[in-house]
Amino acid sequence: MSFARSSLNFAEVAAKYPDFPRFVMLKTDIHRRGLSYTDAALAAFDPERHQAGGTHLFNTRDGKLTGRPESISLRDGTLVLATPAPPEQNPYVVDVVDGKLTLTDRGEAIDEVFYWDKPDYYGKRTSNGVLMQNVVSSRPQRLFVVPNRFCHFWTDGGRCKFCDIVNNLKQQRAEIAMQTKIKAQDIKETIQEALKEKGRFTAVFLTGGSDFRGEEAFDRETDYYIDILRTIDECFAAPKYPSQLLCTALNKEQLQRIHEQTGLTSVTMDIEVLDEEQFNRVCPGKARWIGYREWKRRLCDAVEVFGENRVNTGIVSGTEIVAPTRFRSEDEALEAVLSEADDLAAHGVSTVNMVWQPRPESDFGKEQNASLEYYVRLAWGLQNIRRKHGLRVDFDDYRRCGNHPDSDLARVF
Ligand code: SF4
Repeated sequence: MSFARSSLNFAEVAAKYPDFPRFVMLKTDIHRRGLSYTDAALAAFDPERHQAGGTHLFNTRDGKLTGRPESISLRDGTLVLATPAPPEQNPYVVDVVDGKLTLTDRGEAIDEVFYWDKPDYYGKRTSNGVLMQNVVSSRPQRLFVVPNRFCHFWTDGGRCKFCDIVNNLKQQRAEIAMQTKIKAQDIKETIQEALKEKGRFTAVFLTGGSDFRGEEAFDRETDYYIDILRTIDECFAAPKYPSQLLCTALNKEQLQRIHEQTGLTSVTMDIEVLDEEQFNRVCPGKARWIGYREWKRRLCDAVEVFGENRVNTGIVSGTEIVAPTRFRSEDEALEAVLSEADDLAAHGVSTVNMVWQPRPESDFGKEQNASLEYYVRLAWGLQNIRRKHGLRVDFDDYRRCGNHPDSDLARVF
């Protein structure tokens, strides 16, 4: 069965959706196609001043970890979280034109871009001798903590098909001495050091692999995050502070324990795919251990625990159309995804999308993501759903995260 997808190029999409902000559209397309750097652009990268990549939870699209910038930002401050992609994927190219770092497409200059400024704590070490950027990375206004880089769905055939977390960890261990589990004390010391840079960071974010072990499934994951969060709490005078945990869909009792025992203020439980049939295929571990409907139910429970505007879920958009899929076109997929997002929003749960960037060490490494028009309509649709239901997503917006074109729109609309 053939699948119908939009074939409009950037200029055609821009003409068709004139109210959609161009910077967000450009960012979306860079995420979709990836980017690469010329030798001149790499020569302009100053490791003393700019933030280098390599510490992220997932690998790049060309499988090379280190020696390049973390990413770029656009002239209006929009963050781009795309990674280098191989030439056959037709990435945008960062070059130097007239002395300025410039985004180009097929040799044509698009706009000036910027490397991220490296935080002051990068390059320093904890009292255990661990490099602080391997403990907490910068996004660049959010402190990004990954206490546990191993996902147990990789041990029982349940890993998500777009995910390369454990393969990436093996490479990180070999190339930058990354640890699988980070000690709470190292995290605390790094955050304390980071906070000395006044005004830079606006929130703390934690995530990591799933851990289904425990008396009740995922008790181990719950207990581990409580331990880490309670240590992080010591960095702040207030009992609650801007913070976000991206975890497995924990049950209500587990969420209550986290909420009552730590300073955490918001929670994200990524369902990844907003379609039950495709969820079962793309996320077999999540499907087996929790299930699609139960995942949605737990998101609604989380609103009761953490409150409105403090719970969301992420989708890796584009994986819902990987064959075999029940959808015959991008139109059909979009309608189904937005309908599910609307259902969640009616219960106080916001949905944010990540443009799927296929990575070589994942099962879907050779598959193709969706069209630019699809991603533009999806971002628009998710933002409009939030407006319709009066939901805010401040804890996951353009400053706190920057990985979601739809929540970038919340800055404008
Ligand atoms: S739950 Fe899925 S996406 Fe998350 S780390 Fe495990 S395999 Fe990867």
